[in-house]
Amino acid sequence: MSSPLLLDGKGTAAQIREELKVANTQRRAAGHRPPLLAAVLVGNDGGSESYVAHKIKACAEVGFESRLLRFASDISQEELLSVVNGLNHDDRVDGFIVQLPLPPHIDAQVINLAIDPTKDVDGFHPVNVGRMALGLPAFLPATPSGICELLRRNGIVTGGMHAVILGRSAIVGSPLAQLLARPGEPGNCTVTLCHSKTQDLKEHCLRADLLVAAMGKPGFVTADMVKPSAVVVDVGTTRVEDRHRPSGFVLRGDVAFDEVAPLCRAITPVPGGVGPMTIASLLTNTWQAANAS
Ligand code: NAP
Repeated sequence: MSSPLLLDGKGTAAQIREELKVANTQRRAAGHRPPLLAAVLVGNDGGSESYVAHKIKACAEVGFESRLLRFASDISQEELLSVVNGLNHDDRVDGFIVQLPLPPHIDAQVINLAIDPTKDVDGFHPVNVGRMALGLPAFLPATPSGICELLRRNGIVTGGMHAVILGRSAIVGSPLAQLLARPGEPGNCTVTLCHSKTQDLKEHCLRADLLVAAMGKPGFVTADMVKPSAVVVDVGTTRVEDRHRPSGFVLRGDVAFDEVAPLCRAITPVPGGVGPMTIASLLTNTWQAANAS
């Protein structure tokens, strides 16, 4: 079998950033201010710090403005709600995100519901979730829309495919199932959505033309679970201890890449696959928010 197409999220995201940069230069030349993304970061979780830093850096790369609002992990829910309210009413802010996870004393859904849907560039508010479900214009959640864009830009035609998604979270698996099932391209898939209670998981996987792993279980998908010539998308990014690295950890996907890749038609690497596309989608949503106002 010929070597698989590497679905290069890093390169594809760089292409999207370049397009946004050009469009932003034109926007500014027409006398408009650059889009502004605000990020709310509570506590000092290492993963969250790193994700937010990447988002802020990506804004700078395309000439967007950004604002980082940091709070200690003991901020109260009321205080955080008032931060959200302030951002909702700040005309200078086009879109904002509240980085998850939040500390256990804060109800993430209460915070999510308080976000103005027109500034909800994460696409997590029920208004955007509902609009997406109905096929109406909406801010699409960044990871699933990033995956669709990665497939589209790399010439993967999904129409007629049987897509099997491992993981049903509200931010990855479930919305991706909707996007892949809806009419159009990417889309028109027959979707099987699997989770921890799914029986005969391996048999489902073996029927997948498009297999998406979004569980957070490093190396879970092995070669014996993959149909030859399948397209495999690995969303998993788990920090696994590695004392040989300066950081002390390495990022591992849900797919055992070395044994699965030779079987595939196309596959995403970890890192450098879905992760950069997620950030590119957030920038795209911020761009849309700025141009809608
Ligand atoms: P999550 O909320 O923890 O959901 C995990 C899902 O996997 C759940 O639906 C769970 O089933 C399912 N699952 C767990 N073990 C399973 C098993 N043995 N068999 C079948 N299904 C199983 O995770 P998430 O937020 O969706 O994230 C998933 C992974 O993607 C994580 O590694 C995360 O870091 C990564 N991620 C990456 C990006 C990116 O930009 N690259 C973005 C978001 C997330 P139940 O529902 O039954 O519990």
